[in-house]
Amino acid sequence: MEAIGIDIGGTKIAGAVVDDFGDIVAERRVSTDASDSEAIIDAVVAMIRSLAEGREIPAVGVAAPGFIDAAQSTVYYTPNIPWREEPLRARIAERVEIPVTVDNDANAAGWAEFRFGAGRLVSDMTMLTIGTGVGGAIVTGDELFRGGFGTGAELGHVRVVPGGLPCGCGAHGCIEQYGSGRALLRMANGIADVGGVGQALARRRETDGPLTGQHVGALIAEGDPGALLALRELGSWLGQACASLGAVLDPQLFVFGGGVAAAGDRLLDPIRESYLAHLPARGFHPEPEFAIAELVNDAGVVGAADLARRRLAP
Ligand SMILES: [Zn+2]
Repeated sequence: MEAIGIDIGGTKIAGAVVDDFGDIVAERRVSTDASDSEAIIDAVVAMIRSLAEGREIPAVGVAAPGFIDAAQSTVYYTPNIPWREEPLRARIAERVEIPVTVDNDANAAGWAEFRFGAGRLVSDMTMLTIGTGVGGAIVTGDELFRGGFGTGAELGHVRVVPGGLPCGCGAHGCIEQYGSGRALLRMANGIADVGGVGQALARRRETDGPLTGQHVGALIAEGDPGALLALRELGSWLGQACASLGAVLDPQLFVFGGGVAAAGDRLLDPIRESYLAHLPARGFHPEPEFAIAELVNDAGVVGAADLARRRLAP
């Protein structure tokens, strides 16, 4: 059974018709103005109508950033789009006449990895998406964990440093401040400031202006020692966070997605090392695997479509 998945981001909306195997059979993409919430809804409706044309579509899943209620209908809050208590499901469903469900974007991406990607062979998986911030998704006993109010699995805001760096969420010392793409840039700049192994980073900053994720990613791919040092620092924080998360969730697999995950084993190695160094009662229970996400750009739409389809099943 085909279903439609829509992924609403800060700068674009992606939509796709997704089949039972998680394969995309048609897709659309438009750019968005995050400040105009009505225009976003109009664009989503137009995209659904266009994708559904000439097809039997029983369900639409919409992935959005922020807090979504447990009933998968209301957006409590989004950081970039001005939605507050927005009844997104009803607003879209009344215009497309197809049942709609709404899910958090990181949860949708995690579900896609669990069903069709790196997590397809396990029952318990924890995913961290390392983008500008840090997103989280938890699958436990083959089910997506949403929490009592629907806003669980905000793993980026687990505290790793008491009294640490201030976070956008209002708290201090969240893993998002130590394990995100933005944190990697801060670490790379610090290494460039010192010189030594940071020479290549410093040179790039002089020639191309402020360091970006692309600059650091390219230097990591080249094996530059300064960029790798920054990545190791990032990985060691993420590994520490995984040790704490593992004590609660006991997943068979940790999956890492987002732009920084393109570093592959160069990211996974320091995470694994740090995880083992911080593990409670090491050696007395099986150790989880660590993997890079496989679906990359399509995870949001694929996961949203599959979650919507799943809601129809008895
Ligand atoms: Zn936070």
